[in-house]
Formats: sequence, C-alpha cells, structure tokens
Amino acid sequence: MEVKEVAVIGSGTMGNGIAHVFAQHDFEVVLLDVNRDLLEQGLSKISKNLDRQVRKDLIDEKKKHEIMGRIKTTTDMKDIVDTDFVVEAASENKDIKFQIFRELDALMEDEVILATNTSSISITEIAAQTARPEKVIGMHFMNPVPMMKLVEVIRGHACSDATVATTVELAKNLSKVPVEANDYPGFVANRIIMPMINEAVFALMEGVATKEAIDEIMHLGLAHPMGPLTLADLIGLDVCLSILDVLHDGLGDPKYRPCPLLKRMVAAGDLGRKTGRGFYNYN
Ligand code: NAD
Repeated sequence: MEVKEVAVIGSGTMGNGIAHVFAQHDFEVVLLDVNRDLLEQGLSKISKNLDRQVRKDLIDEKKKHEIMGRIKTTTDMKDIVDTDFVVEAASENKDIKFQIFRELDALMEDEVILATNTSSISITEIAAQTARPEKVIGMHFMNPVPMMKLVEVIRGHACSDATVATTVELAKNLSKVPVEANDYPGFVANRIIMPMINEAVFALMEGVATKEAIDEIMHLGLAHPMGPLTLADLIGLDVCLSILDVLHDGLGDPKYRPCPLLKRMVAAGDLGRKTGRGFYNYN
C-alpha cells in the first residue's frame, strides 16, 4: 500500500515533531489529541520550529505555509479512518497505548500498519492488543524529531518482514536513517544510554565528583555533545526513571536498579528542564 496520508496520535513533544517531519516531506497528516488546546499548542510548536528553519534559510515562507497546510487536526478518531499509516506518540502509559491500539485496530483498514513511538513499552505486548500483530511495529523517533536523523525500527515478536520493509522505506522518505532492533526492554538506544545516566547519578550521590565535573568529563573526555546529567534534565528525570524501571523489571538484573537520588528528585518534582529544575536550575 502506498503511504500518502499519515495519522499521528498525540501532539506533544514527539507527536508535533513527527507531524512536522511528515508534512515537510509532502505527506498529508492528521494530528489527533484529546483536546483542542493541546492541538493548538502542537501546531504552534510546529510553526515556531518552521520559523527557525526559515531564519536559517532552510525553507522559505511559502514552503512553511504549504507544510502547515498539510496538517489537519482532530480530537475524533473517526477522522483518521482514511489514512494509510498510523504513528502513535501518545503518553508513555501502557493502559493509554493499549486502549488506543484496540481502537485503531477496530477502526482502520486491515492493511494499515500501526506504528508506535514508545520509548520502552513492549512492541509485542502492544501488538497483542490487536488482531493484526504482524502489522504493529516500533518506529522510535529521537527528540527533537526535525533535527535527529535516527529512527529505531523495532520488530515485535509477530511483526512481518513486509511491515519492517514499509516502515524502513517510510523513514528513508523522511530523510531519516532507519536502524532495526528487536523487541527487548529499552530496545538499543535507551538500554545503553539509561544505565550511563543512572551511573552518573550514582557517581553524584556518592560524591565522586560535582555535577559539573561529571558532565564535563563525559563531554570533553568522550566527546558526548552534552554530559549525562544535562542530558537527563533534557529528557526528563521522570522519563529516565520510568525507562530504568522497565529495564529493571524486564531484564531482572540489579545493574538496572534506579539510583535512589534519581527517585528522590522525581518524588520532589525536580524533573529537569520541563519543571525548571533538575540537576541544574533553569529559572
Ligand atoms: P508528551 O507528554 O509531550 O505528549 C503526549 C501527548 O499524548 C499529550 O499531548 C497527550 O494529551 C496525548 N495523549 C494522551 N492520551 C491520548 C489519547 N488517548 N489520544 C490521543 N492523544 C493522547 O509525550 P512525548 O514526550 O511526546 O512522548 C510521546 C511518546 O514518545 C511516548 O511514548 C514516549 O515514550 C515517546 N518518546 C519520547 C521521547 C522524548 O524525548 N520525549 C523520545 C522518544 C520517544
């Protein structure tokens, strides 16, 4: 099936970025969220990000207008029924995602592929909510979506080769680089980055070095674009904790146990940039 029109479920950080990238690559997009305010916020974020591309001379005003014109918004699942491919980027919560996939499976034509942008929930478990597990796949974009090249393509237990091939092709059509992985907790990116962030928090808790020193050593010494504590603030400490919980539960190895300091900061509401305070202060 040729993919021309795409539904994106969720217009938050990732959903609006995914809608932006599809529309910029000539796909028609229907962006869905639970209320109009969230959709307006999503559209406004896309508009601001496109303005930045205009300022950098990457696109002109006319192109921006065309891209915005390709994105329709809705709060009603029935409005996505004619789309050819779905990317779910709703909140990282099993119950929410399971319910969305049950609804999508009942609503969408049998040949439509249902992709999820989940960071850590099992693709196989999501697929098992549907009667088309061979057509459910992980399509894990990186944040910020318009900037980051990688799409981790995750094959669930029952996922077919044809579904993988279509998803890989689609990612290439977005000028992204798709890389395949199998469905184990955290897939590849988070399985490797989260233990590193967690270890940095242990190092801080144990007084091995200051937060600035830990970040600078990793930044300058290993050429990471930013140190692990700065990165944790960017991702969100709550998100880091929930992914570590998935790794710990799913793999059963104590090496993935979340650092008590990370838990304490999440309990205190110091979630990083999004709350103005994490390892660093953003106010
Ligand atoms: P977010 O909280 O910014 O946005 C989630 C959006 O989903 C919200 O606008 C919410 O209203 C909406 N939503 C919730 N229930 C819905 C429903 N039933 N129908 C439609 N919309 C619904 O979250 P985010 O950071 O954009 O994350 C979205 C997904 O992407 C998650 O699965 C997350 O794990 C994954 N992800 C996040 C990042 C990141 O850096 N933030 C990176 C890669 C993947």
